[in-house]
Amino acid sequence: MDDRIASSESEPPSTSDPVPGESEEPPSKRRTAPAALPVIGPRSRKLHRFPISPRSDQFRRRFFGQASAADWNDWRWQARNRVKDLEGISRVLVLSDEEREAIGRHTGSLPLGITPYYLSLFDREDADQPLRRTHMPALGEYLRMPGEADDPLGEDHDSAVPGLVHRYPDRVLFLTTGFCSTYCRYCTRSRMVGEAGGEYSFSVPQWERALAYLEAHTEVRDVLLSGGDPLTLSDEKLDWLLGRLRRIKHIEFLRIGTKVPVVLPQRVTKELTRMLRKHHPLWMSLHFTHPDELTPEVAESCGRLADAGIPLGSQTVLLKGVNDDVEVMRRLMHGLLKIRVKPYYLYQCDPITGSAHFRTSVDKGLEIIQGLRGHTSGYAIPTYVVDAPGGGGKIPLIPDPVVGRDGGDLLLRNFEGGVYRYPDPEGHLGADRFVAAAAE
Ligand code: SF4
Repeated sequence: MDDRIASSESEPPSTSDPVPGESEEPPSKRRTAPAALPVIGPRSRKLHRFPISPRSDQFRRRFFGQASAADWNDWRWQARNRVKDLEGISRVLVLSDEEREAIGRHTGSLPLGITPYYLSLFDREDADQPLRRTHMPALGEYLRMPGEADDPLGEDHDSAVPGLVHRYPDRVLFLTTGFCSTYCRYCTRSRMVGEAGGEYSFSVPQWERALAYLEAHTEVRDVLLSGGDPLTLSDEKLDWLLGRLRRIKHIEFLRIGTKVPVVLPQRVTKELTRMLRKHHPLWMSLHFTHPDELTPEVAESCGRLADAGIPLGSQTVLLKGVNDDVEVMRRLMHGLLKIRVKPYYLYQCDPITGSAHFRTSVDKGLEIIQGLRGHTSGYAIPTYVVDAPGGGGKIPLIPDPVVGRDGGDLLLRNFEGGVYRYPDPEGHLGADRFVAAAAE
């Protein structure tokens, strides 16, 4: 097995690579030009069966005219043809001055990188379109505001061994790779993703150290694989890692955190789901941002995962000008239920360096939860959390329903603003507020 896990952003993946960018060849011999397109044959016809929405198909014909529908539906083709520089992106989008300058200034981790499929969902002209804002560099990234940090959650401090964050007693975060198929501009791990040969590295020997740690720590029962995006690993490599984890008796439960089914839905092949179902109980947290992501392709990828018996939850980051609106969030949450994904967490945006332009007030998050609760199914309401800076972990927030107390009655406000009594003669909750006038 190849030791290298992190992908070099300067190297396009080849069809024979086990992982995008993980060539068996030494770096000096790797190809630098896009690889030859796959030959259309029986396998290609199978790939063609993945749906292509009219919007994406039109985009394919216009901007990737040499790619067949089968190429388009080959996840390795998508990974290989990611748009990663000013020249590539300006061929497809009419760039604003700010976008152009921000791309030109970028160095280091969190590079520009967008799959052709995901790019097909962008508005060509409008730089303020929500999905476009989440993936196109902005000048705000270069400003550092008070309270911001490169590692606001203190993950590096809680690293038991490199690539393994052990903060909570019974569960760990296993960082598998630094590669993502697309790079989100608000990424909490922007310090470590997308930069080959940087301070953070990912390798099989590093995985082995993490596995040895887990074997020795019998209190760990739950492992979350994240990164980077674990679903950018080859089936073979992911199978190997999941199998090794499964053999550790005290680990009861595996999870994968991924955005791939949303930005590279073609990755969810029958071969992948067949492999994943060997490792149950396996759960997945998918990263959704906006209802524009709910396409036929994404419905297919989520349906395939759900059919493989994998419970799906979604994680959404609250982002200013992207999804900080009750109606947008309601459409997203309803749409997720329709594709068999349970809204799980709504995150307050972490104070990562250069994220001020994305952050809303906490009041806004509470306003959104208030606008959802009671107005839609409980299954559609995520838990709103602040991941406490400095390693405090997730702290849930809900709009406070306690009005006060009237003798032995607790007074609670419902979703319509009405106040209701609950007989609670032995309770104290609300006693410190005021003795409310009798509620109807
Ligand atoms: S997919 Fe996840 S890890 Fe990758 S850039 Fe987006 S938020 Fe960061």
